[in-house]
Amino acid sequence: MSRLPRLRSSPDPPVPSITTTLGFSMSMSTLGHKRKAEDDLDAEALDQPRKLPAIGNGTTARPLAASRSALNRPTTTTGPVAKQLSGPQRLTRPEPPKLSTSAPRRTTRATSAPPKQLGSSTGPIRPPGRVISGSRVASGSGLPTKEFRDLQNQVASIESTQLANAEKLAQTMDAERAKVAELEANHRALSLELANAKSLELDKRRELVSASDEIEKLRMKHAKEIMELEMEVKSKAREARELADELRLAKSDLERERDNASNLKATLSHQSTSYITLNAQINALQAQKAATQMQLDAVMTTSSDTTLELETAHRRILDLEQDARESEMVRRKLHNMVQELKGNIRVFCRVRPVLTSDLSPSSSFICSPTPDDEEKGREADMSFPDKRDHKEIVVSSSSSSAMGSERKEIYNFGFDRVFAPESTQAEVFEEISLLAQSCVDGYNVCIFAYGQTGSGKSFTMEGGSTEATTGMIPRAVSQVFKAADDLKSKGWEYKMDGQFLEIYNETINDLLGKGEFDKKKHEIKHDKSGTRVTDVNVMPLPSPASVTSLLRVANSRRTVAATLMNERSSRSHSVFTLRISGTNTHTGESCEGSLNLVDLAGSERLNSSGAAGDKDRLKETQNINKSLSALGDVIAALGEKGERGEKHIPYRNSKLTYLLQNSLSGNSKTLMILNLSPLAAHLNESLCSLRFATKVNNTMIGTAKKQIRGSS
Ligand code: ADP
Ligand code: MG
Repeated sequence: MSRLPRLRSSPDPPVPSITTTLGFSMSMSTLGHKRKAEDDLDAEALDQPRKLPAIGNGTTARPLAASRSALNRPTTTTGPVAKQLSGPQRLTRPEPPKLSTSAPRRTTRATSAPPKQLGSSTGPIRPPGRVISGSRVASGSGLPTKEFRDLQNQVASIESTQLANAEKLAQTMDAERAKVAELEANHRALSLELANAKSLELDKRRELVSASDEIEKLRMKHAKEIMELEMEVKSKAREARELADELRLAKSDLERERDNASNLKATLSHQSTSYITLNAQINALQAQKAATQMQLDAVMTTSSDTTLELETAHRRILDLEQDARESEMVRRKLHNMVQELKGNIRVFCRVRPVLTSDLSPSSSFICSPTPDDEEKGREADMSFPDKRDHKEIVVSSSSSSAMGSERKEIYNFGFDRVFAPESTQAEVFEEISLLAQSCVDGYNVCIFAYGQTGSGKSFTMEGGSTEATTGMIPRAVSQVFKAADDLKSKGWEYKMDGQFLEIYNETINDLLGKGEFDKKKHEIKHDKSGTRVTDVNVMPLPSPASVTSLLRVANSRRTVAATLMNERSSRSHSVFTLRISGTNTHTGESCEGSLNLVDLAGSERLNSSGAAGDKDRLKETQNINKSLSALGDVIAALGEKGERGEKHIPYRNSKLTYLLQNSLSGNSKTLMILNLSPLAAHLNESLCSLRFATKVNNTMIGTAKKQIRGSS
C-alpha cells in the first residue's frame, strides 16, 4: 500500500513514448502504474494468506481464508471499492483510434500534454509543422502538387480527427484523473480500514492462539480426565463384578440359611411339641418322684439301719473266715501230724475231667478202650459223697454175668483226700504245700504220681503253660523258696539245686544232660548226706523262675527221644529232685532236705503176649511191670516191717525203688497221688489203681525224721 502514492508523484522515465510528436500519448507508465497498483493490491491480498500460517496453525486457517477472500473481493464485489476499480479497468483497454485502412498505421499514445492546447486552432498547427518539417517534406519539392494536396488534405483530416480525439482524450483523462483521485482517497480509506482490520485480526489471532492454547490445555485436561474416568469406570466395573460375585455368594448363603432356618423352624416346632409332651411327662414324673422320694426316704432310713447291720455282719463274716482258715490250717497241721505219727504213706486221689479229645476216636491213649465205639467218651459212674472232708470216692460198675443178668457193683474207697474232676491245681497244691514246705525243715519228701497213661500224671506234676494250670513241681519250688525266705529272719540261709532224671528200661538218663539217651552209665549212691546219682547235671536254682527253664530243657530232651521211640514219656519214670541245704548263721545248725516229685510210667497192665512180636515193646513192658511191682513190693515190705519189726526191703529190685529208697523209708514223708481217668472205658484200670492205692494208703512206713545236724 505504501507504494500507491507513487502513482501520483513522478512519471516513470524509462517508459518510451511513441507519439511524442503528437503531443499526447498515454504514458505506459501511467497505465503501468495503474496495473501495478492493481497488481500490488492483488499481490498484497495474495501475500496476506502466506503470512497467516506463521501466526496460527491449521485451526486458524478458516478465519484467515475469510480475510483473504475479503481482500480479494474488490475484483468481484460491487462495494464502493469495486465501483472505483471498475472504471480504471476500462482504462487499461483504450479504444484504438479509428483509422482508415489506407491510412498509415501509427501507434498513437496520449501524452500528458493538456488537451486544450490540442483543441485550439493555433496551437495544434505546431506539432504537424514539426512532422512536415520532416525529411519527406524536404524532399517533396519534386512531387506533383495534387498528390501533395491530397496528402495535405488527408493530413488535415487526420489532424482534425486527431484533434477531436485529443480533445476527447483530454476529457477522458480529466475524468480518469478525477476517478484516480477518488480511487486514491478510497484507497487510503481502505488502507486505513485494512490496517485496522489487520490489527483487529492480529488481536483476534492472538486471542485465537491463546484460545487454542487454552483449548489444547483443556483438551489435554479433558483427555486426562477421560482417562481417569475410564480407569475409574474400569475399577468401578471390577468392583461391580466383585460385588456381583459377593452378592451371588451372599444370595446362595442366604438361600442355604433360609433352608436351614426353615429346617430349624420345623425342628423347633417339632421340638416344642416334644417339649410340651416332655414337660407334661416331667410334671407327671416329678409328682411320681416326690411320691417315690418319700418312699425312698422311708426305705433309706430302713436301709441305713440295714447297711449298718450288714457291715457288722460282713466284718463278722471276714473274722469268721479268717478263723476258719486258721482253724483249717491247724486242722491240716494236726492231720499231718496224726498221719506222720501213724507213719502211713499218704494217698491223694485225683480224677481228671472229661476232655474233648476223649470224645473223638483218635484218642492217643494207650490203655485199650472197649471195642464198642459208643463206650468211647462215656463217663464212668464215679461219685464223691464226702462233701465235707473230701475223703471218699464211690465207683459203680455194671457187668453182665454169664447167666445174662446185669450185675451192679459199688466200690467205696477212702483216701487222705479225693479231688473231683473240677478241682484245680491250686486246690491240689494247697494240700501238699505243707509237705513241700517241710523239706525246708530238713525232711525227705517224696510225691509220686501213679495212674494209667492219660490219667493226668504229667498234668498234675508239670502242669500247663498258664498260671492256673501250673503243676506241682513249679508250685513246690516256689513254696520252698517262700519258706526259705521266711526263715531268713531266723538266720537260715539256703542253697537249692535241682536234677531231673528219667528211668527207662531200667536205665537212668539225665534229662538235663547233653549226651545221647541210654548211653551213659549213671549209678545210684546212698550215703549219710542222701542219695546221689553219678554223672548227672545238677542245676542250681537261684530263683523260683529258674525251675521253668529247667523243665523246658527236660521237655526238649524228651521230645527228641520221643521221635525215636513213640510215647516214651508214658513208658518211663521221670524223677525231679530238689535238694535244699540250709545253715543257720545264728545257731550254727545245718539241715538238708530233698523233695522228689515222681511221674511214674503208665500203670496199665500191659499184655506181654500182645507185644511179643515187638522185641523193644516187650522189653519196655517187662521193665515197667517189673519196676511198678517192685514199688508195690517195697511198699508191702515197708508195711510188713511196721507190723513185724525187722524185714528186708527189696529196694534194689528196681532202679526206681533204689533211687527212691531214702524217700520211701520211714525217714521220709511220702505221698502218692493216684490219677484216675473219668471214662467208663478205663474203669477196670481205675479199679486196679484204686486197689493198689488203698494198699499203699494202709502201709505204715513209720514216722518221718528230720535230718538236722548240730553245729558240733
Ligand atoms: P499222663 O501223664 O498220666 O499220661 P497227662 O498228664 O498227659 O496224662 O494227661 C492227659 C491229658 O489230659 C492231657 O492233655 C492233660 O492236659 C489232660 N488233663 C489231665 N488232667 C487234667 C485236669 N485235671 N484238668 C484238665 N486237663 C487235664
Ligand atoms: Mg505223662
